[in-house]
Amino acid sequence: MSSDNAGATLLKGGTVLTMDSEDSIVEGDVLVEDGRIVGVRSGMSILNDFEVVDVSGMIVMPGFVQTHVHLCQTLWRSFADDMTLMDWLTERTWPLEAAHDEATIRASTRLGVAELLLSGTTTLNDMGTVRHTDVIVEEAGRLGIRGLFSKMLMDNHDGPEALREDPDTAVTEALALASGSTDPSGLIGIALAPRFAVSSSMRLLELVARASQDKGLMVHTHCSENDDEVELTVDRFGVRPVALFEGLGMMGPNLLLAHCVKIDDRELGVISDSGASVLHCPTANMKLGSGIAPVTGMLDRGIRITLGSDGAACNNNLSMFREMRNAALLQKVRGEPEALPAMRVLRMATIDGAMALGMGDLTGSIEPGKRADITVLDPNNVCSVPMGETAGSVVFSMGPQNVKHVVVDGAFLVRDGRLRCADEGDIVHEAIEASKRLKDRAQL
Ligand SMILES: [Zn+2]
Repeated sequence: MSSDNAGATLLKGGTVLTMDSEDSIVEGDVLVEDGRIVGVRSGMSILNDFEVVDVSGMIVMPGFVQTHVHLCQTLWRSFADDMTLMDWLTERTWPLEAAHDEATIRASTRLGVAELLLSGTTTLNDMGTVRHTDVIVEEAGRLGIRGLFSKMLMDNHDGPEALREDPDTAVTEALALASGSTDPSGLIGIALAPRFAVSSSMRLLELVARASQDKGLMVHTHCSENDDEVELTVDRFGVRPVALFEGLGMMGPNLLLAHCVKIDDRELGVISDSGASVLHCPTANMKLGSGIAPVTGMLDRGIRITLGSDGAACNNNLSMFREMRNAALLQKVRGEPEALPAMRVLRMATIDGAMALGMGDLTGSIEPGKRADITVLDPNNVCSVPMGETAGSVVFSMGPQNVKHVVVDGAFLVRDGRLRCADEGDIVHEAIEASKRLKDRAQL
């Protein structure tokens, strides 16, 4: 487990937050061979050909799984603050997405992936944009993060012409991306991503529904983020978003619904019965004034809820620590301090996310047989000592400053708090320059 994933490494002497079905915490070692976890127990004997990494006093946990991210938006961080969702989209995000070229998409992807890795995320579900999705996939793959990627599908809106495509051509292109993805590492998957009902024609949604069923592809979309979106959907289609997806036969375990803030009781029942997953983005929901998703009600109904930071343009960071903390606090703020306890939030941030993305057998927990996607946290920081109960310390006290090592598929992508898969200085410089060019092109 050096720069590649060959060989064997023993992470020795940590507190292992396994996130297995029992939420077991093991004081001991994690053995990784050829990118796979082969043992989790105390006092493993050390063989000569192991690389031994001393993690005593540290927390060893599965890397975070972020289920809703827009890597293409990282370049307009801090450039779209204090706006409502529809103004944020039409005045900033759509013009800037339309102005992207290959070079700016590449810089945006590199900045976003670097931030995700340095804050402990090892798997993401990216929504992509209309053009240059292949560049996002290529650059994320080069950096070594695991992910599900999509070409954004939009055909029916008042935004820039560059973001409007013929639905048949767009879906054909999205399917070509899926069939052309011959990623030998197994790190990259492809999904279908109609942005939301409001920017879609019925023809586009029908094509997506059929393609998803025929090819077994996951569908990633925004759903009921705020009142305006629900109203616009009713105006166009005569029904609310969940009923629209239900009528198209899209509801099922392959459907990934970002936000679900404005969801009524009937819709909760539909989502629960179908096995669709909710991608909860608490910070973006607060910042855009969208509201508070009924997370405890969803959990009571057995709905799988996962976490994502959405984009840097509406958050403005991509750290899972922020999402975990805000998810928990938003449920407690109504006077229920016992709501959404830390270990439950950690499950949302790891194994539940992996299961939602169809990767539950690959990642999301530290168990023999899974790929080695591991984040090591060092609690010895002024922000997080003294450490109390392990899960609570991670969720409520820690942050990116505690991330010591990040391993994806057996490879150290972050070591001793530094990015190893690329030069951080180069990424920052490229992002600043690309952001200027992009805003000039968008005339913003
Ligand atoms: Zn989003």
